[in-house]
Amino acid sequence: MRYISTRGQAPALTFEDTMLTGLARDGGLYVPETIPTLDEATIAEMEGHPYEEIAYTVMRPFVGDTFTDDEFRACIDRAYAGFGHAARAPLVQLDQGHFLLELFHGPTLAFKDFAMQLIGQLFQTALRRRNQRVTIVGATSGDTGSAAIEAFRGLDNVDVFILYPHGRVSEVQRRQMTTPTESNVHALAVEGDFDDCQARLKDMFNDFEFRDGVALAGVNSINWARVLAQVVYYFSAAVAVGAPQRKVSFTVPTGNFGDIFAGYIAKRMGLQIDKLVVATNQNDILHRCLSGQGYHKGETIPSISPSMDIQVSSNFERALFDAYDRDGMAVAQLMEELKHGGFEVSQGAMQVLQDHYASGRVSEDETSAQITTSLKASGELLCPHSAVGVHVADIERAAGIPMITLATAHPAKFPAAVEAATGITPPLPPRMADLYERAERLTRVPNDLEALKAHIQTHRAQ
Ligand SMILES: *Cc1c(COP(=O)(O)O)cnc(C)c1O
Repeated sequence: MRYISTRGQAPALTFEDTMLTGLARDGGLYVPETIPTLDEATIAEMEGHPYEEIAYTVMRPFVGDTFTDDEFRACIDRAYAGFGHAARAPLVQLDQGHFLLELFHGPTLAFKDFAMQLIGQLFQTALRRRNQRVTIVGATSGDTGSAAIEAFRGLDNVDVFILYPHGRVSEVQRRQMTTPTESNVHALAVEGDFDDCQARLKDMFNDFEFRDGVALAGVNSINWARVLAQVVYYFSAAVAVGAPQRKVSFTVPTGNFGDIFAGYIAKRMGLQIDKLVVATNQNDILHRCLSGQGYHKGETIPSISPSMDIQVSSNFERALFDAYDRDGMAVAQLMEELKHGGFEVSQGAMQVLQDHYASGRVSEDETSAQITTSLKASGELLCPHSAVGVHVADIERAAGIPMITLATAHPAKFPAAVEAATGITPPLPPRMADLYERAERLTRVPNDLEALKAHIQTHRAQ
């Protein structure tokens, strides 16, 4: 199994190098050269099996000979052992034909743990074997950073630096990043918004001297291994509601397009998915684009679902690559236009995108109202991101096809919005109840590439 860049100008890599590299050297994102498929019998066989076994079946074909079967199984087992629910990704019913896939039982209470916990184990195994050390730098709107710090804290072969927008993450998110005491993890509060953090991260990857000097590795949602880990729960959820005999639809609260793109990969692998619905908040560049209005950046407006407050959706490049028939030059051209504000999608590519993805946008008021409505109707307390998903899913549902909405975070991760809507302050699970008492450790840094590079160079282990 080899991986190629969406911009067509970087060398093809193995799974191991793709995972350890993150971003391709031509600025593109790695995708598998071909997508392996699972036959109907293999999918049917998943029903009733432990999450870890389904994970092994789904991911094994993508990994090639980077890991032995036993190594890979062991990584999966360790990754999910710390989850607070035996099913890992349990489904609950909201209404006839509408289900909620709870992806928030990991250590930092958001779906990012599914990928990040696994990546931590895979990095550790590969780096130990290579006797190498890497510097992981990540940009976060809140959840990626906490998940990364939680996954890599105390591991021998990595230093982790997380850039987050100062003052724009929730208190729980911030504390999850700033309270771990291990010396290999560093929380950096950047004077800027999430798009600034993401742009500085890309700058670092495009500075090859720095990149090679510190052995830079990326674990943002552009890392293929993260997308791959997320493919698994589309299968586990679909078979629980009747796949492969029955088609299913998914609605996904979307920001960087990583989670929903994993659904598209599941579909390409042979899972019968009817609709993949992109749900956005008021930062709706994806909804506008999928509605045929082109892909044009605006201003990021802070919302009560902050993990989706973005204008540039990194993984959308992977969807464009397939929509443009895997023409790397065409994608490189679009990304050049994006630097100057945006681009129009060709008619042919638009057709392909609309064949795979539907979309909807939810306002702030509708999000709050949905939290209240869902609590009344089903007793479920939703986080604001999940509420965005449920709202759009209700519009996109079709008779006879189960709709599964991904619940991307635990309500206690965003208590202010939940309390404002319902009057209820969602409690943290007991295992992290002392989060508000732990001491914090962070560094304020300007939104400046040279300052960030200097900080990382002096604070990583030599
Ligand atoms: C990251 C995140 C999202 C968006 O996921 P993408 O893969 O970036 O589209 C949605 N909700 C929550 C809670 C998140 O942490």
